[in-house]
Amino acid sequence: MQSLRDAIRTITDYPKPGIQFRDISTLLGNPRAFRRAVDELVQPYAGARVDKVAGIEARGFILGGAIAHQLSCGFVPIRKKGKLPHQTVSISYALEYGTDEMEIHLDAVEKGERVILVDDLIATGGTATAAVQLLQKLGAEVVAACFVIDLPELNGRRKIEALGVPVRTLVAFEGH
Ligand code: AMP
Repeated sequence: MQSLRDAIRTITDYPKPGIQFRDISTLLGNPRAFRRAVDELVQPYAGARVDKVAGIEARGFILGGAIAHQLSCGFVPIRKKGKLPHQTVSISYALEYGTDEMEIHLDAVEKGERVILVDDLIATGGTATAAVQLLQKLGAEVVAACFVIDLPELNGRRKIEALGVPVRTLVAFEGH
């Protein structure tokens, strides 16, 4: 069977020179790889109490929806600023150049709910750190942060672990 690593396509110099873009659309389009990625991400939490899965826009929605279904729990979107229609809590976070903002609905998670955060890839960890902080602002207990891909040279995992959240990743790639 094809490995998860082989199911991920790499596009060199996208979206700018020097970046190796790890494209999971090929993994998502491959029925066996998609199922396997979801099964392996949730494996440690099968049987544990999980109330919600929170996915980061946009690729985290695809994986997070499948994971929520698998764990029989709710799904919560964390979106770019201005996309959520009801009352929100927002957080700004640093990008390579400038800042960005992400939001969650104020009533998306109740205090004390156990939440798993999902995205496709962790690089510097800036995006996931902001998402964990948003969930923690709402009083959630973030039980894990799950990513298909880790770029270990950028050390994002350590930032999330420093917030007291265990990190699960399936495939590591070198570089940025
Ligand atoms: P970071 O905040 O640096 O951890 O970046 C993580 C976010 O940027 C995730 O939502 C990823 O989808 C995206 N991202 C960062 N680097 C890459 C890459 N090399 N290939 C694909 N997506 C990336």
